Amino acid sequence: MHELGIVMNVLEQVDAVAAENKAEKVLGVTMEIGEVSTIVPELFLDAFNWAKKRTTYQQEAELEMIIIEGRTYCQNCGETYRTTEFGKKCPHCGSSETYLLTGSQVIIKDISAVFPEQAAAPSEESESPESEA
Ligand SMILES: [Zn+2]
Repeated sequence: MHELGIVMNVLEQVDAVAAENKAEKVLGVTMEIGEVSTIVPELFLDAFNWAKKRTTYQQEAELEMIIIEGRTYCQNCGETYRTTEFGKKCPHCGSSETYLLTGSQVIIKDISAVFPEQAAAPSEESESPESEA
């Protein structure tokens, strides 16, 4: 399972960012995972939840995955189509002169963290009476 290697790499990067920004801890990591990347989301999540216990900042972090649809562009007819359905062969014209536009990425999109001063600050939310909701 190669997901674990990628997860370790992600956790390392996030820990480095957290340390750099003097975060207290990381609560959430959002990743963009391409549909035609080599990642299996379920395995990735399992690996994340196992490996996060060994990190400095991410022991309570939740992983959120945004799955990005795989889309392929056809150079012959200029159409795009869904990669997982048709692979390398364009369903519009039958050409194989195609290339992947999106869907292979594995990207750290967002990190939500708690900072010491933020955690200690009193809440300044209620300026107006509870008229919402
Ligand atoms: Zn085509």
